[in-house]
Amino acid sequence: MTRAGIVTVVGKPNAGKSTFLNRVVGQKLSIVSPKPQSTRDRIVGIVSDAHSQIVLFDTPGLLEPRYALQRAMRRAALEALHDADVIVYLADATEGPAPSLVVAARLESPPAPDVVTVYNKSDRIDHEREAELAATTPGARFISALEGRGVDDLLRDLRSRLPESPFLYDPEDVSTQTLRFFATELVRECALEQLEEEVPYSLACEIEEFRETGSPVYIRAVLYVERESQKRILIGNRGTRVREIGKCARGKIESLVGGAVYLDLWVKVLPNWRKNSRALQRFGYRLPEENAP
Ligand code: GDP
Ligand code: MG
Repeated sequence: MTRAGIVTVVGKPNAGKSTFLNRVVGQKLSIVSPKPQSTRDRIVGIVSDAHSQIVLFDTPGLLEPRYALQRAMRRAALEALHDADVIVYLADATEGPAPSLVVAARLESPPAPDVVTVYNKSDRIDHEREAELAATTPGARFISALEGRGVDDLLRDLRSRLPESPFLYDPEDVSTQTLRFFATELVRECALEQLEEEVPYSLACEIEEFRETGSPVYIRAVLYVERESQKRILIGNRGTRVREIGKCARGKIESLVGGAVYLDLWVKVLPNWRKNSRALQRFGYRLPEENAP
């Protein structure tokens, strides 16, 4: 009998969610950035072995009080919690004891799925601090997503909590299907690295074409912003910034697909897309049912 289910990862910005997802999936697939709040999409990673399949979800926005997207996004995140079989509540061990998930996420009641509190960045605290945290948060696990410590034990624990079930996805299918999605993440990651404060929230990326048949792989990507002024920032003086973004993204996508890539990168304005549920869905934000167009 196999086990399979959804593990939803929640944590404050910078707790290390992306680093964790990247480590367990063994492939770079979500944004890792020293800037907080750069991961907004629900990112799916799949970790399969012979007997079990963990499907990983990200819940953007749940623990981000100043989160800039509409309230529907929070509702979507709450739904994601509800849909989970297990919740991994990732906290930064260097910040001391984490408040309970109920408090941190302002939940009305404890979520139904098991919540595993995981202190990340354990490489940065000493044994004494760790013992303190273990005492204040019974059952907590300690990992270093960066160095790998504790991650296998955590995965074993998660697997044992999954329901008996056939696999939810064919691992092969998923990896090709999601290449496109990872490409959008990488383009956005490169753009975020180049940007000042207020643009990031307004930035979305869409892959208009992804042709894998030829060499190089041809990708046409569009970065969407909400205002002309942001478009000018993104393009930069004589196109220098968008060229830098393109160069950066091409390199990252090349290592993802393992071959040469031609990246055709455009910047377009889609006014107020964050308030437009159609646009939100188009960019991969899952919205609660009643908000669907
Ligand atoms: P997210 O906002 O929760 O997705 O966090 P990221 O994965 O983007 O990580 C935020 C920062 O913390 C990055 O600079 C990571 O390199 C760093 N980081 C993540 N995990 C660890 C860890 O286990 N140890 C240390 N020392 N740093 C980490
Ligand atoms: Mg992230």
